[in-house]
Amino acid sequence: MHPLRAPGRALGKTASLIRQHQETIEDQCAVGIDRIIADVEANRNLNAYITETPDVARSQAAASDRRIREGRARGLDGVPIAIKDNYCTKGIRTTAGSKILSNFVPTYESFVSGKARDAGAACLGKTNMDEFGFGSSTENSFFGPTINPRGLELGRNNVAPGGSSGGAAAAVAARLCLGALATDTGGSIRQPAAFCGVVGMKPTYGLCSRWGIIAYGSSLDQAGAIARTVDDAAILIDAVLGEDPNDATSVRTPFANIEAFLAKPSAQYTIGIPRTIRDLNSNSDLENCWLIGESVIKDAGYRIRYVDLPSLNYALPAYYVIALSEASSNLARYDGVRYGYRSPRASNISELYENTRAEGFNWETKKRIIMGTFALSAGYYEAYYERACRVRRLISDEFRSAFRQVDCLIWPTTPTPAFAFGSHQTDPISMYLEDIFTVPVNLAGLPAISVPIALAANYLPMGLQVIGPQFGDPHVFRIAKEVQNRAGQIGFTETSGLRK
Ligand code: GLN
Repeated sequence: MHPLRAPGRALGKTASLIRQHQETIEDQCAVGIDRIIADVEANRNLNAYITETPDVARSQAAASDRRIREGRARGLDGVPIAIKDNYCTKGIRTTAGSKILSNFVPTYESFVSGKARDAGAACLGKTNMDEFGFGSSTENSFFGPTINPRGLELGRNNVAPGGSSGGAAAAVAARLCLGALATDTGGSIRQPAAFCGVVGMKPTYGLCSRWGIIAYGSSLDQAGAIARTVDDAAILIDAVLGEDPNDATSVRTPFANIEAFLAKPSAQYTIGIPRTIRDLNSNSDLENCWLIGESVIKDAGYRIRYVDLPSLNYALPAYYVIALSEASSNLARYDGVRYGYRSPRASNISELYENTRAEGFNWETKKRIIMGTFALSAGYYEAYYERACRVRRLISDEFRSAFRQVDCLIWPTTPTPAFAFGSHQTDPISMYLEDIFTVPVNLAGLPAISVPIALAANYLPMGLQVIGPQFGDPHVFRIAKEVQNRAGQIGFTETSGLRK
């Protein structure tokens, strides 16, 4: 059966798929893994995976079976996951979606993927992404774009899955894994999750170690999870967060197990809506997200309060200056000397650098390196990078004062549903504008979850973000779960092409 036709596709489910799965696996992880590997192979047309690792998954599932038989089961035993291809995985090719790393096999494992593996998760493979995370559609992958399975279900094979974690979101939506580890620098977990009708969670900056994750913008990068339900995302995040001495920005987890917290009854919350975003020129799909979002919040018995976050207007330009500056510095290491692609056309060391980088990076990456280098260069640093950092500080301060009045904020994840491939080709800035609702969260290092909230007029899904104060992650999960359950009961599933 095509995984999109599999039963139980309701998005509003309360029960955790991962727990259900664990209850039914008993000592049959190996059988389950064979089934899902067959699905992965049958759905190669989606191009969700860059590298499939069926043998790794089988041996991890066999180890899970042994532990379960011996009564030593771990938290993620028998859970088949996918890992975005910017997590270094020991002995498994890790490309970051780029030609320049197309032959790179790390000798070490990232902290977060290592924790998932140690908890028993079986890794089905590495998922497709925009090169180094640079993009919002997965069109910038050296390995070709991923196809949005929600579009395919509607008979369209030209719908972008979002990005940069488009492969991870598509794999979760098409049931080619139970959950995925991904990263979010400016929206790369939440936006593709919204476009593919699944849940995407970006934790507070510092909760998950960045060690072993290929860097984009180090002050913004954060590991997180994509899953079909909020509970599933919580189970994955619980398993992978934690302090790591190898990442100086990682912190000791200041709260207890999130899954257990979600099982307790919900509290009374005040939910904020920023006027700056609510009053933006809207379209009918976006307005629909707002209306459903506001109504589920009220149904949940939460209070709504409007807040002011005026500097959000400057978040997008500040983000692109900071992200590109940091990227230009992080990408200096790809020179063809120690690892990765090396140009065969070079007679001296300068030519080796030049040709390797000219041939190894795509146009978007080159453009970002050039812009980032410019923003950091002598005489311009103060006008661009430093100024953007000041804006960032202003935005963080405004968030902090908003969170003195409200517990969490909500707003839509994206201004539109998923767009068609090529629709931003002639106007690259319009692609950057797609990130307008996700980047403020990264600038302030906040936790946020995107939950499917509505279907657009063209039947593609849209998401609502729940955004919390730093380390308010458990509350973000709880409110997102409430939104998910209620959105699953109204409008969304009625018109849903996602639930048959
Ligand atoms: N689309 C954004 C960018 O291109 C965010 C990508 C990401 O979070 N990695 O920078």
